[in-house]
Amino acid sequence: MSTTSKAALDALLGKVRSGIANNAPVPPAAQSMLPPSVTDYPEHALLERLRSLYREGSGLRNPYFLPRSGEVTGGLRIAGRDYVTYSNYNYLGLSHDVRVKHAVHDAIDRYGCHAGAARMVGGEIELHAQLEAELAEFTGFEAVSVGVGGYSANVSAVGYLLDRRDLILHDEYMHNSGVMGAVMSGARRIAFPHNDMDALDRLLGENRGQYRRALILVEGAYSMDGDLIDLPRAVEIKNKHGAWLMVDEAHSCGTVGATGRGVCEHFGIDTSEIDLVVGTLSKSFASCGGFLAGKRELIELLHHFCPGLLLYSTGISPANTAAALAAVRLARAEPERVVRLQHNARRFREMALERGLDARTCLAGVPIVPLMIQDESALQLMSMLLENGVVAHAVMHPVVPRDAARLRCFISAEHDASMFERTLDLLAAHVAADAA
Ligand code: PMP
Repeated sequence: MSTTSKAALDALLGKVRSGIANNAPVPPAAQSMLPPSVTDYPEHALLERLRSLYREGSGLRNPYFLPRSGEVTGGLRIAGRDYVTYSNYNYLGLSHDVRVKHAVHDAIDRYGCHAGAARMVGGEIELHAQLEAELAEFTGFEAVSVGVGGYSANVSAVGYLLDRRDLILHDEYMHNSGVMGAVMSGARRIAFPHNDMDALDRLLGENRGQYRRALILVEGAYSMDGDLIDLPRAVEIKNKHGAWLMVDEAHSCGTVGATGRGVCEHFGIDTSEIDLVVGTLSKSFASCGGFLAGKRELIELLHHFCPGLLLYSTGISPANTAAALAAVRLARAEPERVVRLQHNARRFREMALERGLDARTCLAGVPIVPLMIQDESALQLMSMLLENGVVAHAVMHPVVPRDAARLRCFISAEHDASMFERTLDLLAAHVAADAA
């Protein structure tokens, strides 16, 4: 790939990662009265370059926006060909479960296709409260409020709860939705080095006194490295400095802990120690939507007044509610799914290491296993995998440092060892050829 194309891609990914447009004021001389144009956006040129990179005859298969024609299991079907996939979140293997599908059909028959309004004013269906009660039971929190997305739940809650008088400390690898919530709130925002609890403690010590409220924002299982938050330390620090602790359990709810209840179960910490959890229905629970979990008083406040969670936003659809409700019930009734998932995650890591690949993740069975690769060969690698029937996506510079590019593999309870063998043999051969 040409240096320009790679630089263009880097810049695109950098902007996408930060999600923050450059809104520095334009000097008066440079301003014009012309209407805004799409071509002014640097990304417009980058899209053109991406198109040229993946043009017919380039020899590279484009791994983005590949439409599948069947269900996701441990594999999927694209244009009549079967692939193994490491790019789909189907952690507990429930996305094609016949009982989940039946629940969805029933809900559509009974309630129709949409919620019809914001929940508070006409959009409430009976299943909404049932799902919230089921999630509260599953996660062990007093109360839960469910909205249309994990992203919007995160942005809305953080943006609503804090303002310019407050302080937010977030892990440098915090998901964009939490970071955007922090930006929206107007609070002073400090990113601390990844999982560095000493730095968090120090930064709070230095800054806490100047602000009204303080919020520590972390992920339960980090989606980039597959490692876990040091929850016992985070709780100790939040208590020491009088801060709130908010944990994004998008990747740990349903997957981490002996029965998948999340990081509190894993670390043996009472859920009352955590002020707020944000979760998604899109990873373990075969649906689409997001939720906030915490103490009743706080959740009731957010349930009624947090803009973008339920207020000013239409209720989650009957089909999505029913899918999640059935999936959470199955996750509770069939804890062997979590055992299988954690076994698979550990097995994938072990098999990668046996083949000399650099697999990073913790040993808790987190279903995210990054395989470290050369940044320069990431596009060729994705293309080669596609040619050989494997869907997997790379994370490259500047989303991660240049020497930390990785193929980020999401593991499912539906994968089996023969899929791993095929994938990892291919990768090992590629790495060996690269080194030669
Ligand atoms: N938080 C994290 C850590 C995530 O990975 C994601 C989704 N990739 C979200 C929040 C957003 O969840 P949703 O897909 O439900 O909007």
